[in-house]
Amino acid sequence: MNEKNRLLRGTCPERGRRTRNDIRVVLFLACLLFVVVFMAISTIVKMPNDSEIGVIFAAEKKQDPNEIKVLPPDHNHPAFSERIEERAKMVRQQIQQRDVKDPNVLAAMRVVPRHAFVRAGEQRAAYADWPLPIGHSQTISQPYIVAFMTEALKLDPNDKVLEIGTGSGYQAAVCAEIAKEVYTIEIVEPLAKSAAEKLKELGYHNVFVRAGDGFFGWPKKAPFDTIIGTAAAGRIPQPLIDQLKPGGRMILPVEGRLGFQYLVLITKDQKGYLHKQNVMPVRFVPMTGEVEKTP
Ligand code: SAH
Repeated sequence: MNEKNRLLRGTCPERGRRTRNDIRVVLFLACLLFVVVFMAISTIVKMPNDSEIGVIFAAEKKQDPNEIKVLPPDHNHPAFSERIEERAKMVRQQIQQRDVKDPNVLAAMRVVPRHAFVRAGEQRAAYADWPLPIGHSQTISQPYIVAFMTEALKLDPNDKVLEIGTGSGYQAAVCAEIAKEVYTIEIVEPLAKSAAEKLKELGYHNVFVRAGDGFFGWPKKAPFDTIIGTAAAGRIPQPLIDQLKPGGRMILPVEGRLGFQYLVLITKDQKGYLHKQNVMPVRFVPMTGEVEKTP
């Protein structure tokens, strides 16, 4: 075989090596290009945009609310313009009648579309004077209790609130109408997920939901101006006390030895001393998880 033919048929060792090297280079460049394109796409996909903020799960640690600008809630969702009369009546008859006076609380109760947090089968009773089932053996609290507890917190527009027991997300939404940011923890993961989705859908950009045991609070976001617990425990979790700011207020149901529950209001003074007061007998679902273990 003459030199020309060997070159043409690729059997020339020198030319063959060069061809193989060329193929390797091309393959390497193609892989590199693929990796670069893949990384670029995943970065774009993961980047939080404004409409995604407000929904945080423990598992999604990358979405740190610290790095996200907190926007106030907007009221663009159609649910806000539905059943306005029923909410006004609920506020008049169930809440003002029982002496809740804080105008911010009354306004929040008039605005938040409670029916959006209630299951399809409970729609008729959405504004009734009692708690309602939300699945997983849990309940959305009675409107008056939500208003009473919110008033007890004396919320300020700059406050950072921690809620233990997200449930439907309704109480968190009421607090988010007044305070700057609400961090809420729910131990039943499907409830945390559906509440987070609901709050996002309704435009509560300033509520951050996390699935987990609220016993431990949310150390990364501590200290909190106010803490609200909506599940009854036999003792007040120490991490919650530690995560309350001096000058802060905490309200939560506590169950005594005989099984009676009271809403307990705790204030922490500037020196860090606690002042406790039983404010009302109540009936809440139990707090589960760590708190059930003997201290
Ligand atoms: N705030 C709710 C009502 C909550 S009912 C609303 O507005 O709808 C109490 C909730 O506390 C339940 O959903 C229950 O699953 C949750 N819970 C109980 N123990 C908890 C814990 N250790 N940490 C976080 N949530 C808890």
